[in-house]
Amino acid sequence: MIEKIRIRMEEGNRIYRNESDPGRRLDTAANGQHPYAIVVCCSDSRVIPEQIFGAQLGDLFVIRVAGNVLDRHQLGSIEYAVGHLDCRQIIVLGHTGCGAVAAALSGGGDGFIRYITDEIHEAIGDERDPYRASCRNVQHAVLRLKKEFAEHPEVGNADICGAMYDMENGEVTWL
Ligand SMILES: [Zn+2]
Repeated sequence: MIEKIRIRMEEGNRIYRNESDPGRRLDTAANGQHPYAIVVCCSDSRVIPEQIFGAQLGDLFVIRVAGNVLDRHQLGSIEYAVGHLDCRQIIVLGHTGCGAVAAALSGGGDGFIRYITDEIHEAIGDERDPYRASCRNVQHAVLRLKKEFAEHPEVGNADICGAMYDMENGEVTWL
């Protein structure tokens, strides 16, 4: 590990341990997690659901993947959170300035990135505007969740909605 990054991360962890509420950690560690929402969002380092929604440990079951796309791993995570954690609210959160959507709009990525941009291409169709394309990408994921879990009423009956996060003003808009 690069030494200066390791030092930075260890210092961050020390501050976290000293300044965060140990009661909450101990409580959730002992009694399990009961998140009130599942959030599927982009891996973008500027889009942090816990900060955006003022959430604490144990509040959000977060699935992060570039471009907030879905494949079987994400679907399995959602199925777990609904079925085993009794979480009934699913939010797919897109954001302004999404690099994955921009990559799809400019033709698609190389290597494994193409799996992501192919999924986004399917979602956005012929939309060329980055914001509207991001919205369509979110709506596509919402529809896909409803379709994939059509035979699975426990998940299919959960409340599934889309939202967009504005990176500049911090506002979340429900779609
Ligand atoms: Zn993004």
